[in-house]
Amino acid sequence: MERLQKVIANAGVASRRKAETLIATGHVTLNGKVVKEMGIKVDSTSAHIEVDGVPLTREKKVYYALYKPRQVISAVTDDKKRRVVTEYLEDIQERVYPIGRLDYDTSGLLLLTNDGDFANMMMHPKYKVDKTYVAKVSGLPTAEMLRQLRKGIMLEKRKTAPAKVKIISTDRRKNTAILSITIHEGMNHQVKNMLAAVGLPVSKLKRETYGFLTLDGLVSGEYRALKPIEVAEFK
Ligand code: URA
Repeated sequence: MERLQKVIANAGVASRRKAETLIATGHVTLNGKVVKEMGIKVDSTSAHIEVDGVPLTREKKVYYALYKPRQVISAVTDDKKRRVVTEYLEDIQERVYPIGRLDYDTSGLLLLTNDGDFANMMMHPKYKVDKTYVAKVSGLPTAEMLRQLRKGIMLEKRKTAPAKVKIISTDRRKNTAILSITIHEGMNHQVKNMLAAVGLPVSKLKRETYGFLTLDGLVSGEYRALKPIEVAEFK
């Protein structure tokens, strides 16, 4: 539920202040009745709002891919005033939010949209969208560790689905390795927790792919609009 003046402002009709004036002076109807009261809360997905007899058009659905840098919160606001991902898309009109999350210290591909149905679909385990991460770990992976990751790990009293895991490189002198790991679930800190559970604590994590989408053509902090064909591919 949102305040009526906010819904009007978000539809691009007027600034929040101007929307308040429009309401106070009787230009706005809510479900067919003039409302002059300030602060009334409405469900913007179902309310029928008109300004001077013209229905509010719903915001155009938009979809973006961002190369999220480290030290950025996957949210729209942060009470600790840290950088948030939407600051990287500040030149767009629509109010978008991230589809799922990457940890503060994780970089990589993050999708943002204002399409709630699309976001829910993408995050639903039923759709099994694969995400591939590259992790730098302390320790050298053994065949047994890889076997456990590929089989699934008990996390939060639940076994994770089998992961695809590959060793990209190992550094015996530094006792570190770089792995690629592909999962389709989205439990909290899943990759870090899975790797830590087999004895390979993660020191750096980056998401390289989300389904068939990659970071190609983006540098850290950059974003691009998804092509309609890319969005359609997921649906
Ligand atoms: N798994 C993690 O541990 N962290 C992320 O940011 C994403 C997946």
